[in-house]
Amino acid sequence: MDDEIELTVQLPPECDVTDQLPPSYDTLGFDNPVTSPQVPTRQAMIPESEEVHNFNIGRATPLSPDDARDYLLCYATSQSCYGKSAARQMVISNIISSHGLHYTLETFSETRQIDWTKEAFTGGQIDDSTKGTPPSVWNVEVTSNQDFVDQVKEVKIPHTETLKTCNKCQALGVIKCDKCEGLGTKRCETCFGNGVTYTKKGRTKMCKTCGGPGRLKCTDCNNSGHVKCPDCLGYKRLKWFALLTVKFVNHVEDDVVQHQTGLVRELFREASGDRVFQYVGKRVAPLSTPDDQVLNACSKKLVEKHKEDTKPNERVLKQRHTLRAVPVSEVHWTWKDKAGSYWVYGFDRRVHCPRYPQSSCYGCAVL
Ligand SMILES: [Zn+2]
Ligand SMILES: [Zn+2]
Ligand SMILES: [Zn+2]
Repeated sequence: MDDEIELTVQLPPECDVTDQLPPSYDTLGFDNPVTSPQVPTRQAMIPESEEVHNFNIGRATPLSPDDARDYLLCYATSQSCYGKSAARQMVISNIISSHGLHYTLETFSETRQIDWTKEAFTGGQIDDSTKGTPPSVWNVEVTSNQDFVDQVKEVKIPHTETLKTCNKCQALGVIKCDKCEGLGTKRCETCFGNGVTYTKKGRTKMCKTCGGPGRLKCTDCNNSGHVKCPDCLGYKRLKWFALLTVKFVNHVEDDVVQHQTGLVRELFREASGDRVFQYVGKRVAPLSTPDDQVLNACSKKLVEKHKEDTKPNERVLKQRHTLRAVPVSEVHWTWKDKAGSYWVYGFDRRVHCPRYPQSSCYGCAVL
């Protein structure tokens, strides 16, 4: 960073076009090289979408006691410490079939950051402000490759190029070799720079590695004491420009609404179900269905949370909300002197049975 700050002092007057940049780049001085601008209020206020929430979840398919038993038996077989007779003999007293509703809200947004970037000037045209007015940060067209997927894009802002002499090498194109401190030679490590080594009897003899001078040629700079400047690559001048970095982020939040089942909410998230509703818009309106106030409240809570979480420098591009209905049946059983319930859920009929009554393993029985 130090060289960048010094640069403003060392510029030849004809190269400094910073003053001619439009107001939006004023804050982007070399002392202050990174800025993340706020979204203009006009752009942030996009009206809410007109959307219709017509969907039919339908009635849950009932689960027969025979099927309920088969699924549990399959499950017990897959657990090495479970006995199978409990699943075979248990009395199934009641089965309640319903749906768990898995609601997901995604907010796809972008933030923009500009910072001065430099590269070696190898010749050619300079796209400076005499070629046109640089567009303001939010007017540079950058689109995502795919919606609702995190990604980063970098774009050079047009007409912001400016030519400056390279400060790192003082416009020489080369810098001192740090391997030999600019001397072109390095100390011989065999004789420690003495030119002689000692025999076992204590007599001196000429060092075979350096042949006497105590120093060796520096291979990093080929004896010259200097190397090509890493900033300007020997071209002595640098092209600076405003680089726009656009970060696309997909914020995802979900919740589960369940009316008649006590299945652990987490399990609904991964379970297969039926997509009963999806809408994509600039802004989505909270779900509004006449039959399910709990679902309406869940959607409203997430939509409002995403609105509150949007930062002043973040532009919302699109929102999408999705509702899935996951079938679930709660099966009540009795076996010997025990009673409990288990769940069969998802299209792939997974079983959740936290208190299986016949376990040879103490840990499993407790869980
Ligand atoms: Zn030597
Ligand atoms: Zn060197
Ligand atoms: Zn240089």
